[in-house]
Amino acid sequence: MNLDSRNFPANARAALGDAHLQDALERLRGGFVESRRQAIGRLPEFDALRDRAQLIRTHTLAHLDQYLQRFEERAVAAGGHVHWCRDADEARAAVLDICRAADAKTVTKGKSMIGEEIAINEYLQANGIEPVETDLGEYIIQLRGEAPSHIIAPATHLSKEQVADSFRQRHTELDAARSLSEPAELLAEARQQLRQKFLAADVGITGANFLIAETGTSIIVTNEGNGDLTQILPRVHIVIASLEKVVPSLDDAATLLRVLARSATGQDITAYTTFSTGPRRAGDIDGPDAYHVILLDNGRTELMAGDNGEILGCIRCGARLNHCPVYGAIGGHAYGSVYSGPMGSVLTPALKGLKSAHHLPQASSLCGICEEVCPVRLPLPRMLRNLRFEAAESGAPGALARLLVRLWAFSARRPRLYHFGAGVKLAWLAAWGRRKGYLRTIPGFGAWTRTRDFPAPEGRTFIAQWKAGRRS
Ligand code: SF4
Repeated sequence: MNLDSRNFPANARAALGDAHLQDALERLRGGFVESRRQAIGRLPEFDALRDRAQLIRTHTLAHLDQYLQRFEERAVAAGGHVHWCRDADEARAAVLDICRAADAKTVTKGKSMIGEEIAINEYLQANGIEPVETDLGEYIIQLRGEAPSHIIAPATHLSKEQVADSFRQRHTELDAARSLSEPAELLAEARQQLRQKFLAADVGITGANFLIAETGTSIIVTNEGNGDLTQILPRVHIVIASLEKVVPSLDDAATLLRVLARSATGQDITAYTTFSTGPRRAGDIDGPDAYHVILLDNGRTELMAGDNGEILGCIRCGARLNHCPVYGAIGGHAYGSVYSGPMGSVLTPALKGLKSAHHLPQASSLCGICEEVCPVRLPLPRMLRNLRFEAAESGAPGALARLLVRLWAFSARRPRLYHFGAGVKLAWLAAWGRRKGYLRTIPGFGAWTRTRDFPAPEGRTFIAQWKAGRRS
């Protein structure tokens, strides 16, 4: 599979034919979706909280400059350093400078989508510094040289047998005859490997779920505690975050955390919610000597000024991935981008340009489930439609698609012609599929029938049946 958004159609076809991946996606559908449903059922005020969360995100984005400035003031007052970075190059350079100043050889890393966005691991490695992912899923995919396939469950595309194979290939110093058939054995081995890395690390890099303007604090949520060891044990802690992660106050962060955990994993609260404000102070028993925050723009200021700026309100819960029928059929890698699913289909064109990502806004049935489950009520279907419109305007869909849409538009403006054409086509399809009740192939609809049968129509259009119904 080629991880490039330009190859989305081929990637999607490969994903549909991958039996391992299809099993993994089936497990995902059953797990997170059901836990979220139960968690919401236990909290009658969930919808009111979502309204409040939506207001917080809208208000913050409208006053982003002020809140970022306040965050910087408070973070610096607490002894931290804030680095404003326009793009990935600047962010990578800032991280490397800090690592070099600390004479770092090994860097531990907590899960960070911004780290993926700027490819920080590859950059550090190319500059002689060993980055070690410490989230279990991220650790597994780092060993395999893969990208995350889900925003909160990065190795969800893998079976435990595949993980065991990777451990055997990479942990060659261990007994080749050891048992790795149980998840607990895999976990114990990863823990043993990572413990040494935690103790050796000079710098720890984490992302941030939120940055609090009121106090200059960064927050991370994890279920493994790896984030705490990453930011507390090394001498230097670097937080890499994009601009929109800021929220006004601790109270606002508390509201967002309540909807985040329930939407993401169906937990009432994530196992570890860690607040960091500046480096270790006199009297603190642990913590880093230095605390840096990398604030990344990377096209977001421009995005905010356009039609889809609301996407920056996303709090990265991943609920839309778990519910999206398209993600559920093809997984995350097919999108060829760090960000997959409906949110990724809006954000990726903004980060990489619509020309290279024009397939992604089409990767949606526009069923609306993403908006329905989003804890901050982002209107994702509307944003996807905006991008489809933009792509059509720029000629991205190609000459044949444009010709077909023009023909459709021509007939749609002429109701008699439209109804006649629809009736003929339907009668033809009905006759063709009458014997079996379904169609294996339809000329021009190969993308559909390659992986699914098409139910044969019953013979009359909806309007014809409706008129007949009114007469009777
Ligand atoms: S768009 Fe909404 S549902 Fe999707 S990850 Fe962001 S906050 Fe969660």
